[in-house]
Amino acid sequence: MERFKYSFVVGNMNLGVHMAFIVKKKIKGNEYYYLNENKRVDGKVKTKTLAYLGKIREDAEQKAEEFMKQFSVNTNSKNENIRKENIQISKLKSFPINIEELAQFCKSKGFVFRSSDIYGGFSGFWDFGPLGVELFNNIKQDWWNYFVRQNENVVGLDASIISHPKTWKASGHITGFKDVAVVCKKCKKSVKLELSEFGKVKCDCGGEYEKIGVFDMLFKTNVGALDKSEAYLRGETAQAMFMDFKLIHQTSRMKLPFGIAQIGRCFRNEIAPRDFLFRGREFHIGEIEFFIDSDEKKCGLLEKKHLNLKLKLLDAETQEKGNGNLNETTIGNMLKGKKLEEWHAYWLAEQIFWFKSLNLNEIKIREHMKDELSHYSSATFDIDYEYSFGSNEIAGNANRGQYDLLQHVKESKQKMEIFDEKTNKKVLPMVIEPTFGMERIFLALLTKAYSKNEKGEIVLQLPSKLAPIKAAIFPIVKKQEFEKMARDVFFELKKEFNVIYDGSGSIGRRYSRNDEIGTPYCITIDGDSLKNKDVTVRIRDNGKQVRIKIKDLKESLRKSINEGEDILRLGRIVDTRKK
Ligand SMILES: [Zn+2]
Repeated sequence: MERFKYSFVVGNMNLGVHMAFIVKKKIKGNEYYYLNENKRVDGKVKTKTLAYLGKIREDAEQKAEEFMKQFSVNTNSKNENIRKENIQISKLKSFPINIEELAQFCKSKGFVFRSSDIYGGFSGFWDFGPLGVELFNNIKQDWWNYFVRQNENVVGLDASIISHPKTWKASGHITGFKDVAVVCKKCKKSVKLELSEFGKVKCDCGGEYEKIGVFDMLFKTNVGALDKSEAYLRGETAQAMFMDFKLIHQTSRMKLPFGIAQIGRCFRNEIAPRDFLFRGREFHIGEIEFFIDSDEKKCGLLEKKHLNLKLKLLDAETQEKGNGNLNETTIGNMLKGKKLEEWHAYWLAEQIFWFKSLNLNEIKIREHMKDELSHYSSATFDIDYEYSFGSNEIAGNANRGQYDLLQHVKESKQKMEIFDEKTNKKVLPMVIEPTFGMERIFLALLTKAYSKNEKGEIVLQLPSKLAPIKAAIFPIVKKQEFEKMARDVFFELKKEFNVIYDGSGSIGRRYSRNDEIGTPYCITIDGDSLKNKDVTVRIRDNGKQVRIKIKDLKESLRKSINEGEDILRLGRIVDTRKK
């Protein structure tokens, strides 16, 4: 570990004098920067990590300064109330974690394992463990509820992974979906580039790249035993939505504009899978293809809340000037600036609203520059999330025009126009495509939730509707009458929620192992429970406790988990300070 001379003193309020240092750690050959703090406790100097600062030294220095500014504002505040609030919040502090630590945490708790771990893993493939599959299913279900169930004009699809090989000819994947493997002539590091990047970009060390070969991104397979034909595992989910568009229009009585949504596995033969679940060879996309009559410019669903939605935008002009500054703007202003059309604006806003509903507020929008727009798109936006280890793309939104439908018309010789009753004419619609990297959302939720309490123990502050386990049920002691009652409560709740029974260890130990995996409620059966037929519900995020009658327990959990009601208001609050 390398420590820089660079250091500065921060606030000297109640917390005493702190020294903060930027330190560089080397993990598996990669360098990472952290902001550490030294603090004198009982005559000994203790070091604590305040923030993760990224992989680049210049960025690290800037981030450190920003962090310090915030820190001194908080600790020097003259307003007693604000200071008190800060101290309260600091009881449970979000803790920056890097990607290696996150992978390690996911393995140790049963969220995510390397695929075929006993054989040393298989690069680019991952298994969701018992907690991971619950969390991932909950994310997918919430997505489905928001984008399909709650929209009158969106229907679902679950298409096959292997489709007719002509699909990929029409989509352009067979000719265009290739990567170039290169090696740096100077530092010998090998990476992959997109075909268009070759010859234009250099290695981080300044070295030139040498071509090793060109590879197909699509996985090939053979279909049938005797009359073998070559096919592909899908590289994206979108194509089935285009191919089934007309069938769905005919069978679901949908009228333009309408959308088809799907969450499904995709496969890309990445040359260099890396960064845990970020760039795997098998992954999930959640996607909507929204079909609109190109003449219908007005979006009837666009409301004030969409127009007034504030966002941070890195626009094309700013990037073309070589500048990385974000502009604060609104969807309404983007429309006025003709950066996108109304339907496109509506879906971009809806995507951000969904992220906000999961408490993922650290969102930035990046507009694609003219020369990076795909051949099919007139406007595309990346939605980036500010992970504790740096900003990365989490979703996107492209205006694909009529490109895909026209390609399939050409390849299949079928007509893809539909008759629009509203205008009494045949229409080949244009398409807006909001798309989501589902594993990347999984990672954003975990990094956002990862916190530590004042004892330094991990508390995973997942939204309760997404938490893998909703409640843990404990008998206070190992005695038959308590255990029987606890098991009755457990089996009753299990009919509706994913709950666990935890009968061993001290109550404190049982709380902390449930905090660590994000269980929002711990339910204890104690002496009073036997008399009063009630339980104590302890809340993960603030340690507060409430007494609830067993007969009301299911309804209380339903309200707090599904409807976001504060469970403290659904029972009698217990004064935990007395105990
Ligand atoms: Zn190099």
